[in-house]
Amino acid sequence: KRTKIAKPKWLRVKLPTGESYRNVRNIVDEHKLHTICESGSCPNMGECWGEGTATFMILGNICTRSCGFCAVVTGKPLEADPFEPGRVANSVKLMGVKHAVLTSVDRDDLKDGGSEIWAQTVRAIRHQSPGTTLETLIPDFAGKWENLQNIIDVAPEIVSHNLETVRRLTKQVRIQAKYDRSLEVLFRLKKGGMRTKSGVMLGLGETHEEVLEAMEDLRSVGVDILTLGQYLQPTPKHLPVAEFITPERFAEYKEVGLKMGFRYVESGPLVRSSYHAEKHIFDLD
Ligand code: SF4
Ligand code: SF4
Repeated sequence: KRTKIAKPKWLRVKLPTGESYRNVRNIVDEHKLHTICESGSCPNMGECWGEGTATFMILGNICTRSCGFCAVVTGKPLEADPFEPGRVANSVKLMGVKHAVLTSVDRDDLKDGGSEIWAQTVRAIRHQSPGTTLETLIPDFAGKWENLQNIIDVAPEIVSHNLETVRRLTKQVRIQAKYDRSLEVLFRLKKGGMRTKSGVMLGLGETHEEVLEAMEDLRSVGVDILTLGQYLQPTPKHLPVAEFITPERFAEYKEVGLKMGFRYVESGPLVRSSYHAEKHIFDLD
């Protein structure tokens, strides 16, 4: 059994407080929405919610998959809620965010993989907040490409799909997912004209070379934006942290990534896919 390593000081975060935080809290609660900030036990809640932003998680809060790193509950999801797109759009409007980030649980139980609700949500936000740009962090739709097409058709400004880890650890970390299938998702998104983004968590036991290989693989399918962050174990039942990567090492990866041709790299211990997401959109063109 591996002994737990102590958390280094660079991972200490602010506790959530303040008026903006309470405002986000109220909007989320009143609209009966879920956020990956909460469901994923994100360490940045104090900062992001304090700045009036959150990442909504659509299609419920029960996932059909059971990734070893993820705090979202696994099980049989409830029926998809046709009113959810409207509630998300209302909330985005109330929050007045310039750039809205959405994600979802995986719905391998649904024939369309949830892609219809995804598309409706994007359309509802566009309708209510025409000035807001959108970033959708989507699942792999189990390789059913007609469902991926539903996302391409509504053309969010950024579409992300996370690789999450290096090739060797994929089986262990993302039990039902496949490394090459994720690369294909990103390839098809690019081919469909999307601006793409992907994220990898570090500290799960991958080697330096494997990280570089994953970065090269993401570049080979044309990914524009890369996020690299430290994996944190959400509960003792989840995969242990193998290593805490230093901020200096994260900075090195950023430099390497930019040299490889990523247009934007967000790399640091507390970086999550949706962290500082609003920065990427404006830096691109
Ligand atoms: Fe939420 Fe993303 Fe911020 Fe974490 S980094 S609190 S998931 S918006
Ligand atoms: Fe979490 Fe994996 Fe489900 Fe995504 S697919 S919500 S990472 S368990």
